[in-house]
Amino acid sequence: MDPSSSKWRVAVIGSGPSAFYTAEALFKSPAATTPDAGSGVQVDMFDRLPVPFGLVRGGVAPDHQKIKSVVRVYDKIAAQPGFRFFGNVKLGRDLQVEDLARCYHQIVYAFGCESDNRLGAPGEDLAGVYSATEFVGWYNGHPDHRHRSFDLQNSRRVALIGNGNVAMDVARVLLQSPDRLAPTDIADYALAALRDSNVEEVILLGRRGPAQAAFSPKEIEEIGELDGVDVVVRPEEAELDEISRAWLEGAGARSQQRNAKYIAACAELGEGSSKHKLRCRFLVSPTEILGDDGRVRAVRVEHMQLQLDDSGTPRPRSKGTTEDVECDLVFKAIGYRGEPVPGVPFDERKGIVPNRDGRVLGAPGGEVVRGQYVAGWCKRGPTGLIGTNSPDAKATVELMLEDRAAAAMLEPAAADIAPWLAEQGIDAVSWADWQRLDAWEQTEGEKRGKLRHKLSSIDEMMTVIRELR
Ligand code: NAP
Repeated sequence: MDPSSSKWRVAVIGSGPSAFYTAEALFKSPAATTPDAGSGVQVDMFDRLPVPFGLVRGGVAPDHQKIKSVVRVYDKIAAQPGFRFFGNVKLGRDLQVEDLARCYHQIVYAFGCESDNRLGAPGEDLAGVYSATEFVGWYNGHPDHRHRSFDLQNSRRVALIGNGNVAMDVARVLLQSPDRLAPTDIADYALAALRDSNVEEVILLGRRGPAQAAFSPKEIEEIGELDGVDVVVRPEEAELDEISRAWLEGAGARSQQRNAKYIAACAELGEGSSKHKLRCRFLVSPTEILGDDGRVRAVRVEHMQLQLDDSGTPRPRSKGTTEDVECDLVFKAIGYRGEPVPGVPFDERKGIVPNRDGRVLGAPGGEVVRGQYVAGWCKRGPTGLIGTNSPDAKATVELMLEDRAAAAMLEPAAADIAPWLAEQGIDAVSWADWQRLDAWEQTEGEKRGKLRHKLSSIDEMMTVIRELR
């Protein structure tokens, strides 16, 4: 890039779906495409890992390759002339917000929500209690989670708290035959551990009823269609109460109606004959995790009933009775949560970057910070599917365009960040570096009869990248 360029320069932090949709919206904006509106837009995308794609690489389950194929769209965005990737560069460690402000007119945070919610119940830290985030990162070969171990070999029953789509991924990976996972890009160590697994039952603990389950119909139905797996539901828990019936007819979405129907059909099928079972429990809320000698033994749940809140949403309320659900392992799949990044405002209560519709605020409810924006999960919280991030990013880019038109941007010295990074001794990974590693991982995968041999350590990734340069 010509450092004296009059280009509109934007830094995007993160390289998952919301980062790429932000780049796409920037490249498609009239300010970037109209010849007399300046000399186009430069989008520099930063990621702390040497590899791009965020949760598409590190979160989407290996048996959901169709979902992962969205990266082809991102490849096209990365092929735009104004795009550059700076992998292996961590905001708050390798460079600070002030360093970005020296080089860019606008900064967009799109770093997602990398941690998970705490249950806040006694026993949460017993051995054998894990967050789904750890497990998902582990089987996906994410560098943060590759060293974890899960005692699947000595476990038969797993309690899974929460019934969203992350819980569905965890249940599916635990219950399906490892042979189905072998040809994917699952981490080798995870496949080996799953082959040695003795897990037969996953007990899904939902605190509300079947009509309020957070999973998508397709996800629960996919588990029901797996060979050798039964979805088992107690008839009394499948039956909808008055509140749910009225709610489904009124505010309930089609997907919720489909879930309730599917759960009722499962209840009619009874126990089934398969060795592996997903037992879906409803209206049970964990109050404590019980252990023996520091190791989990059961989850104590209280029985719940539904009550409408002020907005007319059915919420769980304790019936005052409890039950102990025996299990050997516990996975909490109760939602992701953002982590503070040094120099970037953080809303501790919501676990996101405080913002007004995408413009960063200095503090929750505070003043707009000039030139800083958010997109994706760190803007709105960890909700929605991959595609949800496209309109979300477009909305942020609209505000960026408004501010650009009003000249309310940062005023950087016309400097290119690349020489400065090199001076600091930071070995930034370019898009070409990544493309070579990508091809290498796929070739190595082919040799092993799988789609991709994913490297899971940053050191290994950097070694191969340097060899391929
Ligand atoms: P989620 O959809 O928000 O589900 C969280 C679940 O945890 C809900 O069942 C929630 O119950 C429950 N929960 C929260 N706090 C709890 C507590 N204290 N005690 C008991 N239960 C509690 O979150 P997620 O599963 O992490 O998914 C995040 C987003 O990624 C979602 O939008 C999801 O659709 C998406 N995703 C999609 C896919 C896919 O399409 N294949 C895969 C993975 C993730 P309540 O409903 O009662 O609050």
